[in-house]
Amino acid sequence: MQKQRFPALGDWTEKKTNSFVEEKLVIRNPEELKSKIGKMISEGAQQIQIVTDFDQTISSFLSPATFSLFRMSELSPQDFKNKMQSYYDYYVPIEKDQSIKIEEKNKHMHEWYQKVSEAFHEAKFTKSLSCQILNTSHIYLRYLFEPFFNKCVEEHVPFHIVSGGLDRVINTILASIHEIDTYEEMTLHTNEMIFQDDTLEKMEMLVTATTKAKILETSGIKFRNNTILLGDLPSDFYMTKFLNIPNQVSIGFLAQDHFNQLEEYKKLYDITIIGDPSFLVPLILLSKVMGCQLTEEYTQLFNSQNYDELRELL
Ligand SMILES: [Mg+2]
Repeated sequence: MQKQRFPALGDWTEKKTNSFVEEKLVIRNPEELKSKIGKMISEGAQQIQIVTDFDQTISSFLSPATFSLFRMSELSPQDFKNKMQSYYDYYVPIEKDQSIKIEEKNKHMHEWYQKVSEAFHEAKFTKSLSCQILNTSHIYLRYLFEPFFNKCVEEHVPFHIVSGGLDRVINTILASIHEIDTYEEMTLHTNEMIFQDDTLEKMEMLVTATTKAKILETSGIKFRNNTILLGDLPSDFYMTKFLNIPNQVSIGFLAQDHFNQLEEYKKLYDITIIGDPSFLVPLILLSKVMGCQLTEEYTQLFNSQNYDELRELL
């Protein structure tokens, strides 16, 4: 039997989507952004690709990370949850500590992931329990992510996801929007849940926040000229670092309560969107590149003064 490209856990029957909340845009360098977008539009549909993070980029800020679902769920064994919580409390401050050198940090991250993998192995989750855990979770898709994703599928836009999350959870979520096994242009680079029959056998831990920059470089993918990059952490910006892609518009989502990090985001991202952002801006950009007409709803949303500066650049 042919291996499924994007194996899932079951169906995400309890799909949830954020509603639209007002968002604020900060554009790092309007002149530069204008020229990037102009180039992107002139090279058109044949040269566009998406590179994106998953947790809290495709899902909203109020959503738990795909990994955390299992640590937080009432359906997970208590012993497993205790272990995961203690690792989380110990390693997250290390992950976030900017004063620790990257090699040192990678060592800690590797150690963390090994412990997590062992804990998952011991807990022996089944697919149906894992699916129930997803269905009882509070993962929300960002508003307008669905039409954005559907447009990418329809137009065969390469869609590369680099995530420190879990493959089957991500696949189950995306499969609730569109058939993904036939989406030839999608690639997913993340950690793998390996099941033996119906029981989780092990986790193949391949991606951490600190190794994200290296993942696509060794993927063997032939990249196009223009990228729309999407992320919610400074480290996401580096997903395309070693790819020598000539043109990129990077969009960073920043939660209102992390507003003090704006300067850091501004140094990296062309557009920082503050709030619990929707996919309106990526969708508008993509539509411009594709030469598609916007729906009345998106046009109306985009006519708000929050987008005045961006509208002038298009
Ligand atoms: Mg993220």
